[in-house]
Amino acid sequence: MLITADSEIAPLLELSARLGSNPLLVQAGTGNTSVKIGGVLWIKASGKWLAHAAHEEILVPLDLAETRRCVAQGADPAGQHCILRGRPLRTSVETAMHSVLRHRVVLHVHSVNTIAWAVRRDAAALLAERFAGLCWKWIPYVPSGLPLAREVERATAGSPETNILVLANHGLVVCGDDCGAAERLLQEVEARVAIEPRPAPEPDCGLLMQFAGTSGWRLPADPSVHALGTDAWSRALLSKGVLYPCQAIFLSPRMRAMPRSFPGASQPATNSFLIVEGLGVVVNDEMTVSAFATLTGLAQVLQRIDGSTPIRYLEEPEVESIMSVDTYRYRELVETNSARAFAS
Ligand SMILES: [Zn+2]
Repeated sequence: MLITADSEIAPLLELSARLGSNPLLVQAGTGNTSVKIGGVLWIKASGKWLAHAAHEEILVPLDLAETRRCVAQGADPAGQHCILRGRPLRTSVETAMHSVLRHRVVLHVHSVNTIAWAVRRDAAALLAERFAGLCWKWIPYVPSGLPLAREVERATAGSPETNILVLANHGLVVCGDDCGAAERLLQEVEARVAIEPRPAPEPDCGLLMQFAGTSGWRLPADPSVHALGTDAWSRALLSKGVLYPCQAIFLSPRMRAMPRSFPGASQPATNSFLIVEGLGVVVNDEMTVSAFATLTGLAQVLQRIDGSTPIRYLEEPEVESIMSVDTYRYRELVETNSARAFAS
């Protein structure tokens, strides 16, 4: 049975399912939502998919005052185990950030349009024009969890009315007093940051399959991902580094298009996908639903950035800290309930 006792829980679950079903906002089990009701912070459980909110338990209840006390004392409330209706759940990695925000409803999404801005070195100035009249803050890149909560606290300390946060190299947070207000604000922000994706050259599926050979590679179900191989700017941007944490967590901290001279049959079986210069993308049985959702999201981000854009890639120590033991645990949680992607 789903939690529907409070009038704001049901709208949050409905809104979460809507957000989670929009690949331009949420990819696989990423993103998180919360609502504060009567001293309780209801927050998405780590690894749960927002898209499943209508038919699966995804929210964990936490004592808000206690959670804020934890954060104030430097203890990260993420990853706490809870048993809810007999099922074990763990609190979201972003629990601390949700708790320090004063608004009742908080939505955190990995909007591809926002990320296309949030990876730019000149983003703060450009967004200031786009967000004229809105209460927003730019949050420089820090790791998820306590560091992000601290940065958000610092940025909003003098302006509690702030209800939009753009997280550098990460995503977007919008807040509201109820789900309707938060969703309307999200739509307003999305309209202001919208970028028309650059059309990519068509894949050459014949040559692509010839390149892949007979070693288990096949064409992906969503052809939009071919842009990673066929679009020259996307390939160039990809080869220079990691744009945001999910890219490193679900795909690889080192990605680049293969030259056509290295046939797929000679590629290590540990790869779940190959991006082939000028031809497109092939996947194999190792490709998970989460990884594929991340790959299509990355293609969407890159098609919204042109080759002359000043990009701030994650620095090597930042990438190293992302690839920690906790990250592998998180990835496992996200992928637990998702079958291998049926790519073709
Ligand atoms: Zn996030």
